[in-house]
Amino acid sequence: MGCAMTRREQKSKRRRKEEPFFSSGEQELRREKEKARDLRRTQWWKRRLAKGECHWCGKKFAPAELTMDHVVPISRGGRSVKGNVVPSCKACNTAKKHRLPWEARKEEG
Ligand SMILES: [Zn+2]
Repeated sequence: MGCAMTRREQKSKRRRKEEPFFSSGEQELRREKEKARDLRRTQWWKRRLAKGECHWCGKKFAPAELTMDHVVPISRGGRSVKGNVVPSCKACNTAKKHRLPWEARKEEG
């Protein structure tokens, strides 16, 4: 039993080597998450939070209640840049998770 497991593991390792796309995508995801963390520390972001307005519903919140939301999610190829991150309340962030804004709108209408 132990022998068969080992053999199967070796096979899957070899196959993974032939698909570098998978691992590089994961690497990119991690890099964008790190960039988002850096962005959260900037004065630019603190100013946006200080306004206390959710980008999606326009309601006012305490800065602590707002989270950084990617307009185009990282998982969809979005980047952690100023043009792609907005303050979002928790409800809106949860509602649009992993959906592109125009897809969310389509479902509403
Ligand atoms: Zn909101």
